[in-house]
Amino acid sequence: MRLATRSATQILTPQRGGFLRAGPWPFTHSLSWSAGCGLGRTYCGRYCYAQYLPNWVFSRAEGEDWGEAVIVKENAAALLGDELARAGAAGRRSMRIFMSTVSDPWQPVERKLRLTRQCLEVFVRYPDIDLLLLQTRSPTVLDDADRIAALPSAWLGMTLETDRGDLDYGPTAGAIRQRLTAIEALVAAGVRVQVAVAPCLPHSEGFADLLLASGAQRFVVDTFSAGDGSDGARTAKSPLARQAGFDWRDEGPARRLYEHLHSAGAAVGWSAGGFAGIPPGRLL
Ligand code: SF4
Repeated sequence: MRLATRSATQILTPQRGGFLRAGPWPFTHSLSWSAGCGLGRTYCGRYCYAQYLPNWVFSRAEGEDWGEAVIVKENAAALLGDELARAGAAGRRSMRIFMSTVSDPWQPVERKLRLTRQCLEVFVRYPDIDLLLLQTRSPTVLDDADRIAALPSAWLGMTLETDRGDLDYGPTAGAIRQRLTAIEALVAAGVRVQVAVAPCLPHSEGFADLLLASGAQRFVVDTFSAGDGSDGARTAKSPLARQAGFDWRDEGPARRLYEHLHSAGAAVGWSAGGFAGIPPGRLL
């Protein structure tokens, strides 16, 4: 995989519409320190919608496929410090940041560069932002469990699409069992955890009970059609649609999982409304 660095001029991207705004408590900004994602060659890379977005399309070298390169903003933490300072106390109190929508904060190169860790160290200086949702598939997040637990605004979103262990996520994305173990460890460390079954993949009958036993405080259930930002059109042209071996348009299993969690009394949301469903800190 090619690793390139560049100096950027902005790190927080204002959200004016779309997926992150479509809920009762919308996000105001997204934050990603890379174009491209080092988990792009694992199972999720087969359907990842980020490979169709300008952030990657205009950053890659000619002929490069998703997962073959990561171009990082080496000055991410410095920019973040500047932008949070410039926002002022009133601006920060309304900030709801999703990190990251187009890459994974704990993708493999994080262990080398520690850009997410540097950003967390900036966030420590600004405890007044309303929400920081850190979304990952990687058990490497445990390297920073204590730092996340120290942030009053932070929620950790762990993606767990299924309980089936036979899908080839590869060691870097974290096998399902490793991710479940990470959720339990994060909860034990005092981190607020939201599990994102996004997109919901074929799973066993016991998946809902496994989720309920994980200790996570919230859940989001999503599907390919509801969650790819194009009513399934992006997924239809993805490699997954040709190789899935299951009906990815069938929302029945996801609906039943949602109902199971809901009827058990869990805090659970559906798709975009679920992601943008964490109430402001003052209401929690
Ligand atoms: S971890 Fe997320 S951003 Fe990275 S390839 Fe998978 S779905 Fe895409």
